[in-house]
Amino acid sequence: MRILKRVTSLQRHLSTIKEESLTIGFIPTMGALHEGHMSLVQQSVKENDITVASVFVNPTQFNQKDDLDKYPRDLAKDAKLLKKNGCDYLFAPLPSQIYPPDLNTNVYIDIVHLTDLMEGPNRPGHFEGVVQVVKRLIDIVEPDKLYMGQKDFQQFTIIQYVIKGLELDVQLRVCPIIREDDGLAMSSRNVRLTEKHREISPIIYKTLLWAKDNILTESITTIETKAVAMLNEAGLKTEYFTIVDGRTLDKVTNVEQHQTVVACTAAWAGEVRLIDNMVLKGEINI
Ligand code: AMP
Repeated sequence: MRILKRVTSLQRHLSTIKEESLTIGFIPTMGALHEGHMSLVQQSVKENDITVASVFVNPTQFNQKDDLDKYPRDLAKDAKLLKKNGCDYLFAPLPSQIYPPDLNTNVYIDIVHLTDLMEGPNRPGHFEGVVQVVKRLIDIVEPDKLYMGQKDFQQFTIIQYVIKGLELDVQLRVCPIIREDDGLAMSSRNVRLTEKHREISPIIYKTLLWAKDNILTESITTIETKAVAMLNEAGLKTEYFTIVDGRTLDKVTNVEQHQTVVACTAAWAGEVRLIDNMVLKGEINI
């Protein structure tokens, strides 16, 4: 596996690959990699000739400087894991490579209708930053397929909207959430959990399962209210537990009117913000 830090050197390598008409799968990440990320790498290795992963902690998607500063970083460990899983290129640029001062990296597409719930109001500017970095990375790598996790439901939905809206020549592939044995969704942030908070955080998965079991018998309001109570009683601080349409991200009031229904949640376990989701009805359709 090659590790490249400059846009020009990555593009030099990739242009030879493109000349040979080989397919490229791309996995954008912020590093501190775990088995969740590796599932995306493995899927890409299966479906493409060449797999490229990026590790870039994108400053424009952090609305709290503290969160950006505390984001775990270990490039040597990430590189080892990527190599072991068959990745061909690791792109690990500095911010100046992604956002050179003389380049306009703004993306002109209205995503407001997809950001007015859940992560949007709680993290102002976050998705604009995600769209900006993913678009820039797609422009650099020009992959055939882009791999993202269901773990960030609102994120991949927005990226799919951008791909369609801007007619980007890339296919989005969404991979299932990889969990620890006790159900906690794997996340780079989990390493920051205290022992006590690590112990209680599987309640998120249990609550999502409970919501799935009760979606056809209880009202949406009852499920959302009880779910928040379950999370808070266990010792988390719930930011939201919201049931939405799996495509439009509009709030669901009547399950029967929607093909795909998803419960999305964010909760604080001490100082660590955890997100998770579960499809309650139908399936992800992109
Ligand atoms: P991040 O490094 O957190 O920006 O994540 C990079 C990609 O990995 C995103 O598309 C995430 O949705 C995906 N991802 C993160 N955690 C998991 C997980 N537990 N299972 C599957 N995919 C994940």
